[in-house]
Amino acid sequence: MKCYICAKEGKDTDAVAMCIVCGMGLCMDHLVREDVDVWEGGYPFPAQRMKKVLPRILCPECYNAMGGG
Ligand SMILES: [Zn+2]
Ligand SMILES: [Zn+2]
Repeated sequence: MKCYICAKEGKDTDAVAMCIVCGMGLCMDHLVREDVDVWEGGYPFPAQRMKKVLPRILCPECYNAMGGG
């Protein structure tokens, strides 16, 4: 998979992660990572409790949409 943002800019960069919200492929330069210890509601996944600290990978657009930054 390629980084979606790089692809839009005409570059061809391998994705190292994927946005958990929209599924966009992201390279190291474009992913936004936050470690969260509570899996809050509102994600497009079946509701379930997670007991571990999870890395949350978002693309810049979803990060902004969720009020981050
Ligand atoms: Zn990129
Ligand atoms: Zn996204």
